[in-house]
Amino acid sequence: MSLDASPRETLIEVRNLSVHFPIRQKRLFRTDVQMLRAVDDVSFDINRGETVGLVGESGSGKTTVGRAILRAIDPTGGEVIFHSATGDIDLAGASEEELRKVRSQLQMAFREEGGVAVQNLAGEALRAFRPRMSLVFQDPYSSLNPRMTVRDIIAEPLVASGLMRNRDEIDERVRDIAARCKLNLEHLRRFPHAFSGGQRQRICIARALVSKPEFVVCDESVSALDVSIQAEIVNLLKDLQEEMGVSFLFIAHDLSVVAQISHRVAVLYVGKFVEYAPTEKLFFTPRHPYTHALLSAIPLADPDASFEPIRLQGEIPNPLKAPSGCRFHTRCPFARERCSAEAPDWREIADEHFVACHFADEFDFSRPNLNAAE
Ligand code: SF4
Repeated sequence: MSLDASPRETLIEVRNLSVHFPIRQKRLFRTDVQMLRAVDDVSFDINRGETVGLVGESGSGKTTVGRAILRAIDPTGGEVIFHSATGDIDLAGASEEELRKVRSQLQMAFREEGGVAVQNLAGEALRAFRPRMSLVFQDPYSSLNPRMTVRDIIAEPLVASGLMRNRDEIDERVRDIAARCKLNLEHLRRFPHAFSGGQRQRICIARALVSKPEFVVCDESVSALDVSIQAEIVNLLKDLQEEMGVSFLFIAHDLSVVAQISHRVAVLYVGKFVEYAPTEKLFFTPRHPYTHALLSAIPLADPDASFEPIRLQGEIPNPLKAPSGCRFHTRCPFARERCSAEAPDWREIADEHFVACHFADEFDFSRPNLNAAE
C-alpha cells in the first residue's frame, strides 16, 4: 500500500463545488421541479504528480465530481482552480490575432492568487485549455470507435483540439505515447475489435495522454478488467505518472485497487465528502463510520485475522431526498439525536486528515492487522 509521500505543489483546487440537476415531475395539473443534489459543497485539492482516489457506492456522485472538474458538465456552484501557466497556449494553424484573443480570454479567467478558474473559460479559450485535462473511461469496449484505426483513435484529441495539424508530427507523438503505453507499434494500423480488454484500455490511456495533459480523470478505468489485467493497468498508470508527472483523479468502488495507486483518498456519500486523508492514514486509522464500514469489506490476507464485514442497513438514499443533518444518519450504527438535526462540519481532525462526523473524536476504528493484508 505504501507509496512515496504525496507531492506538494498544488495543481487543482476544488472549492465548494456543487452540481445540482433540475428534475421535472409531472403532477395532474402542474409540473414540479426538484433539485437533485448530485454533488454538494465539495472542497479538496490535487497536487502535481499526485493520485487522489475517490471512492463511494454507486450513485454517490463520484463521476459527477470528475466531470465537473473537467467541465464536461457545468457546476452549479463553487470553483475549480487549475494552476497552470497560460503563456504557452498554442493552437496549430491559428493566426497571431486568434492566439492573442485566446490568451486574453485566458487572462480574464486568471486568478490574482494564481491559477485559471476553469468554470470561467468559454469558447476558444476552453478549447485551447482542454488538452491539459483528460479522461479515461470505464468501458474499453464501448469507448473506442470500431471504424477508426488505433492510430486515428489515439491522434483524435490532437486533431480535435487543434493542438497539431502536421501529419508527421502527429504520427511521431502517437508512436511515442503508444510505446510508453507498451502498445506494439505494428498494431497502430489495426481496428479495436482485434484487441483484448487490457490492450483496449492501453489504447484508451494512450488517447488520454497523447496531448500531454497535466491532469487525467480515470473513471472506474480498471473495474471492467480481470484482476491480473487490473494490476498491469495500475502499474502502467504509476509508470506513466513517474515519467510524465501527470496527476490522476482515480475513481473506483474497489478500495483495494484504490489503495495500490493513490497518495490520498476521498470518501464520498450522497454527494458529500465524509473523509479525506493520505492513503495509509485512511486505511489504518479511519475516523468516519462509513469509511470504517467500507474498509471492513476488504478481505485480509491473514487467515487467522477475523473478517467481519459490517452490513449497512438499507440502500444509499436518493439524492432527491437526501436525509437531514448528517446524510449517513439513516444507516449509521452510531447515530444519535444530534445527527439527524445538524449537519456535521468538515474539519481537520489530524494533520491532513479531514472528516465530517460529530463524534469522530470518540471512535477508534484502527486496523492493526491490516499489515498482514499488504
Ligand atoms: Fe454517524 Fe452521527 Fe457521525 Fe453521521 S455524525 S457519521 S450519523 S455518528
